[in-house]
Amino acid sequence: MSWRDNLIKIEPYVAGEQPNKTDFIKLNANENPYPPSPMVAKAVRDFGADALKKYPSANAVPLVNAIAKREGLKPENVFAGNGTDDVLSLAFRAFFNSDKPIIFPDITYSFNTVWCDILRIPYETIPVDGDFNIDPADYARPNGGVVIANPNAPTSIGRGLDFIRKILDSNCESVVIVDEAYVDFGGVTAVPLLQEYDNLLITRTFSKSRSLAGMRLGWAMGSPELISALYATKDSMNSYPVDSIAQAAGVAAIEDEEYFQATLKRVIATRERLTKELRGMGFTLPDSQTNFVFATHPKYSAKAIFEYLKTRDIYVRWFNKPRIDNFLRITVGTDEDTDALIAALKNLIG
Ligand SMILES: *Cc1c(COP(=O)(O)O)cnc(C)c1O
Repeated sequence: MSWRDNLIKIEPYVAGEQPNKTDFIKLNANENPYPPSPMVAKAVRDFGADALKKYPSANAVPLVNAIAKREGLKPENVFAGNGTDDVLSLAFRAFFNSDKPIIFPDITYSFNTVWCDILRIPYETIPVDGDFNIDPADYARPNGGVVIANPNAPTSIGRGLDFIRKILDSNCESVVIVDEAYVDFGGVTAVPLLQEYDNLLITRTFSKSRSLAGMRLGWAMGSPELISALYATKDSMNSYPVDSIAQAAGVAAIEDEEYFQATLKRVIATRERLTKELRGMGFTLPDSQTNFVFATHPKYSAKAIFEYLKTRDIYVRWFNKPRIDNFLRITVGTDEDTDALIAALKNLIG
């Protein structure tokens, strides 16, 4: 017997590569190519270091209030955390304590399986169809919980309210988590369904549409019962997950709706141009409702394109996983980034 036998054995989530150099185009983590709102810059600049001597608001009250106001909800319907990943891991802990497996698509956010492994939550994955579509009928089966990303990642496909409603209607006995990390880029939010379903939890992030990946901010929306379970779990792990500077930045980001909408518009316009260009080169890709595209080419393997782009200092995401290992997930960058990407691809493919 050795202490080594007691170390955790887990295959962790692998994030997008962060090369140790400065001059490259990073399209592998779905970060926003544009800076956060000038109001965020001001909030961070004006934040007095003196205030750091105090603990932050434990439940991120100013931030929760700003989010609730923006979403037309009450503060007791909102929970803020240290990135959506923090919120989701608390939610898995708080809600998935059944002996039955939780269910989610085989192709979706790959953190799901990692949380299940570390929290010892049984799970089953349900295959999406050949076009990466999720059939809600597949989710009408006994389970200990349901997790759906809508729009889904890395497929970029978004579905409407009737789709979420179908899943909810066959799952009144489970908590259903809808991860809306990408919803702002053209998806349909399930927020209106919160009035009807007490077992629905929706998560969002500041990392993509609000350009704050480095700040680590995310939130959840749901019934007071679900939100209370999240607080109880948080307060059993880490009472103050959201630091004071992040809270101030988050409030500023939420309140600058105009900048938010303008930035989304730019990203979406570039995405449409990139989609057209890729199709022109022979790539196949679904219409994206996110800030990335998910593309495959009939002649060039995704791995070969991925490696080639790296030699041109362009980093995209390639998942060496069953069913998707011939696809590339490419983040929508600036117009300049996109020009460089297209030029490199044309050089390879012609
Ligand atoms: C980016 C992402 C998240 C998490 O974002 P945070 O940076 O932790 O807020 C959650 N779900 C999906 C599907 C994502 O792509």
